[in-house]
Amino acid sequence: MVLNPVISKLTGKLVVLASASPRRLEILTNVGLRFEVVPSWFKETLDKALFKTPQDYAVETARQKAMEVATRMPYKHLKTPDIVIGADTVVAVDGQILEKPSDKQDAYRMLSSLSGKEHSVFTGVAIVLCQDQEDKEVDYKVVDFYEETKVKFADLSEDMLWEYINSGEPMDKAGGYGIQALGGMLVEYVHGDFLNVVGFPLNHFCKTLDTIYNSPPASPDHKSQLEDLDEIWPLVNSLSKCAENGELEPSDSGNCGTSDAASVSGASANVVGPESTCSCNWEEFPHKIVDLMDGFKASKALFAACKLNVFDVLSVSADLSPKEVAERIKASEEGSARLLDACVSLGLLERRTRDDGDHVYSNTEEASRFLVADSPLSLHGYILHCNDLVWPLFSHLESAVREGTNQYERAFGKKSEDLFQDAYYKKEEVKLRFMNAMHSIAKVTVKDLATAFDLSMFKTVCDVGGCTGAMAYEFAQIYPEMSVTVFDLPQVIAMSGRFQPKDQTDRVTFVAGDFFKDPLPKAELYILARILHDWSLDKVHQLLDKLSKECNPGCHVLLAETLLDEGKPKVSRAQLQCLNMLVQTEGRERTSEHYRDILRSSGFHLLRVHFTGNLLDALFCIKT
Ligand code: SAM
Repeated sequence: MVLNPVISKLTGKLVVLASASPRRLEILTNVGLRFEVVPSWFKETLDKALFKTPQDYAVETARQKAMEVATRMPYKHLKTPDIVIGADTVVAVDGQILEKPSDKQDAYRMLSSLSGKEHSVFTGVAIVLCQDQEDKEVDYKVVDFYEETKVKFADLSEDMLWEYINSGEPMDKAGGYGIQALGGMLVEYVHGDFLNVVGFPLNHFCKTLDTIYNSPPASPDHKSQLEDLDEIWPLVNSLSKCAENGELEPSDSGNCGTSDAASVSGASANVVGPESTCSCNWEEFPHKIVDLMDGFKASKALFAACKLNVFDVLSVSADLSPKEVAERIKASEEGSARLLDACVSLGLLERRTRDDGDHVYSNTEEASRFLVADSPLSLHGYILHCNDLVWPLFSHLESAVREGTNQYERAFGKKSEDLFQDAYYKKEEVKLRFMNAMHSIAKVTVKDLATAFDLSMFKTVCDVGGCTGAMAYEFAQIYPEMSVTVFDLPQVIAMSGRFQPKDQTDRVTFVAGDFFKDPLPKAELYILARILHDWSLDKVHQLLDKLSKECNPGCHVLLAETLLDEGKPKVSRAQLQCLNMLVQTEGRERTSEHYRDILRSSGFHLLRVHFTGNLLDALFCIKT
């Protein structure tokens, strides 16, 4: 079985992942599968006692999840998917099925039951094939399977258990651990498919797709198994039966057996539609490089749609035609139509055909949540910052690489010694855009940061360079006994009032000053979120030395930065962010080891590191 031809069979099909798991999303994205995510509303409440084995339970839950999405989409989303993929991962030990822990005690119960023992991880997968039929209900066929991997945990001490639980990582993971991150340290060995433990058995999935789509032609003049699902229905039916018997592949005759997948393949990989042919060789075509070549167009389409308020007008009235959108955003109809279609292809908008035959457009759920300017978790501010500031700077990346310096002078005609103090930052409109950007990114990252470690013992906190107070308000909300002082430059503090939440608290206060020169407010915990990465090593030492002099031994520091550590999920994002710091600042992103050394030389000890999986990782430190 070769991967690309299997995945490429799905090109042009509406493939839907009925799961919000970022791990499944990453596994499938990494192999080049294009799909939409529509999280299932199916509640995982099946009675476990009714199932003979844990794998039966996982497969049935996966089926229910996938079928719920497959049957909902034609009505709620007004489109019928071609394929819906559902998955459910459970951990089984001593005859017990472990799902996600409900709280820390539950995580403790689960992890202590795994300590020192071998357990099984089962992922059930259901592939629902949907076929629209004229004047009839949609037809659904389900192929399902499961994969088992054995995992052995080391003996876990109480300290280790609680440290892991307090990292926050166990909470959304089956069995209470994530093997791909900190949880990997608990594991002695893995027998079987590693990705199955992460949440999706990719190899088994591809073999199953291969069996479905590369089945032998039904007749000599048959062009492609993809042209009509009717052609593969008998095979799908026999696969469903085989799966019930615990076998994967049907033999050529359609009977269950253990035939080699190659013996059932044979359909032409090149036929992409009833009449059209394509001569590209999928194995040799450089998919990844072409995707990267196009990446900037996708980013700019997103930026332009935000800047032109496309998502905002569609949040006021859904189902608008290109003409109606063009009128509202004051743009050309032709240009708007193309931008709207590009956004549909990027999964940011949905399109349907109105009774009068016109195409109309609406926001996807994700766009409503994150791209509409006034939604609580909007990234609009950060996207405008990317468009207006980062984009021009990045277009001089090669000069930045040659010279090793930021590119303000080339991009904006002004040299920047201190990004935050110079004339550029003094322009009110520019400062406000920057504050909006920091505010929006802080809002989507702060929850994971605030809960990375248990900070409930701290009553007085200072958020150094805390900007609009977005983080401070969230910390104060999560920790009801905490008071947070936001310390930032006078020109920033003067404008912070514009960002205060409606339900503000007097436990958040603001103090103006320069953190390189002025004394910092007294606190038991200092937060430095995205501060150190802005500065050269000399300035980082200057700031940490000053902080070290001003605070007492035992005082804590919480750093939030994008760590460059190898092995971290999505490390490529961190590496790109490091280039971003090159074109924008005098600073850089660093590894946790590098921070450990820097901190040590200023009298701080790095206690713990937490990879949040979002844009900011957390480092917890103490003054020695
Ligand atoms: N901590 C916030 C966050 O993570 O969302 C904002 C980070 S932003 C990259 C850097 C912040 O440091 C800005 O709010 C900026 O105004 C502030 N800052 C820069 N230089 C400063 C200085 N010398 N004294 C005080 N604050 C400063």
